[in-house]
Amino acid sequence: MMAVPRYWREIPARYNLIGKRCKICGNIYFPPRSICPVCRRKSVGQMEDYKLKGTGVVESYTVIHVPPPHFEGEEPYIMALIKLDEGTYVTGQIVECDEKEVHIGMRVRATFRKIMEDGEKGAIYYGYKFVKEE
Ligand SMILES: [Zn+2]
Repeated sequence: MMAVPRYWREIPARYNLIGKRCKICGNIYFPPRSICPVCRRKSVGQMEDYKLKGTGVVESYTVIHVPPPHFEGEEPYIMALIKLDEGTYVTGQIVECDEKEVHIGMRVRATFRKIMEDGEKGAIYYGYKFVKEE
């Protein structure tokens, strides 16, 4: 378990928006944590999976003009820090939204989309992106 890089272990949680909820204090963590930083040792064995609703508000954003390799989607694209309604933060791409339209405080919701395609392996990866909430 320790030999597996953190990045790969976190992928299922990142792509499914599943965090952890501390049964003692009720705080929700995303990415998931195995121990609650508030309750510390008392929280061992008291952390349960928690599916986030995926709705929230744009706290800040940046428009990126040069995408990474294999990136799927339009250019330029918008990356935003989103405060979810549960109070935790996630970083995600905002799609179907003009860079002139995005603004701090805009309501968004998560949607399941193609994240990237590995041409050599033929693999397609899916995950969440965000769209403006109607
Ligand atoms: Zn706690």
